[in-house]
Amino acid sequence: MSPIKLAIVGLGKIARDQHLPSLAANPNYRLVAIASPHNKLEGTPSYPNIETMLREQPGIEAVSLCCTPQVRYEIARYALEQNKHVMLEKPPGATLNEVAGLMDLAQQRRLALFATWHSREAAAVEPARDWLVGRKIRKVQVTWKEDVRVWHPGQAWIWKAGGLGVFDPGINAMSIITRILPQPLVLKDAQLHFPSNCETPIAAELTLQGPGGLPVRAEFDFRQTGPQSWDIEVETEAGLNLKLSHGGSCLEIGGRLMVHEEPAEYQGIYRRFDALLTIGHSEVDDAPFRLVADAFMVGKRVQVDAFED
Ligand code: NAP
Repeated sequence: MSPIKLAIVGLGKIARDQHLPSLAANPNYRLVAIASPHNKLEGTPSYPNIETMLREQPGIEAVSLCCTPQVRYEIARYALEQNKHVMLEKPPGATLNEVAGLMDLAQQRRLALFATWHSREAAAVEPARDWLVGRKIRKVQVTWKEDVRVWHPGQAWIWKAGGLGVFDPGINAMSIITRILPQPLVLKDAQLHFPSNCETPIAAELTLQGPGGLPVRAEFDFRQTGPQSWDIEVETEAGLNLKLSHGGSCLEIGGRLMVHEEPAEYQGIYRRFDALLTIGHSEVDDAPFRLVADAFMVGKRVQVDAFED
C-alpha cells in the first residue's frame, strides 16, 4: 500500500513539536504539503491557505488540522467538501454544533473524521481504565495546574473567545476522566476566573457528579509556577487508591508505581487515524467538549487581575 498523502494545516507549536516528528517516524504517511498563513516548512510545498493548497495539490488524501480552534470548523468543512479525510487537534471546534455538523458531513461523504484527544493516548490511561472496571469509586480529584507563560507563550488566541483559556489544557484532563471512569458525568457547578483583560478564564473549579452521587472535583489553573500538576486521583471503596500523574503517563495504585512511560501520544494518534482511514470510519467523542461547554453555561464568573503575557 502506498503511504497516505497528508497535509498539515496550521504550522504552529504543536505541529512542529509533535505532528512533524510523528509523521516522519511513520512510513504509512507522506507529508506532501503545509497550509499556514504565515509559516512555511523548508523542503515541503507550503501554501497560505487550504483552498490554494488543495487546488495546487488535488492528490492530497487527508489533512491534519493543527490550527487554532476558532478557525477549525470552516477549514474542516472545506476539506470534507473536497472529499479529504480530516484529523482534528483538540478541541474539535469552537462550539458543539460545529462538531455535530462536521460529523454529519463526514458520514454523508463516507470520510474519516477523527477528533483526537492526545491525552487519551498517554501510556497509563488504558491500564487505569482497565483497573477501574468493576470497582466502586468513592471520589475523584483532578488537579491540572500549569504555567501558561511556559507552555503557551504569546498565544493570544487562547485568551480570545473560543480559545478556551485554562480549559485548553483542562480539556485534556476531561478527555482522560471521560475515558477511565466507567459511567458518564454531569457538571453540577463551576467557578470561572476571568482576568479583567481576557475573554477566557485563567482558572476554574468544577464540581461534577457521576451516578449514585459520585463526587468529582476538578481544579484548573494557568498561574502555576514551580512544579506543574497534571494529576487525577481516584479513591475506591476498598481503600485502594489510583493516581494518574504526568498527564497520564504515570500510574500508581496504592502508592505502588505500575506504569511510567515517556509520552508517545501523537504516534498513537497517527496509528489510529491510519486505521480509521483504511475502513473509512469516523471517531468523534465529544464528551470532554460537552463538559467544558457546560462549565461555560452554568459557571459563575469571577473577575481577577489582568493577565500580561
Ligand atoms: P500555535 O502555536 O499558536 O499555532 C497555531 C497555528 O494556527 C499558527 O501557527 C497559525 O499559523 C495557524 N492558523 C491560524 N489561523 C489559520 C488559518 N486560517 N489557516 C491555517 N492555519 C491557521 O498554537 P498550538 O499550540 O500549536 O495549538 C494549536 C492547536 O493544538 C490548539 O487547538 C491546541 O489546543 C492544540 N494543542 C496544543 C498543544 C501544545 O502543547 N501547544 C498540545 C496539544 C494540542 P501561522 O502562524 O502560519 O499564522
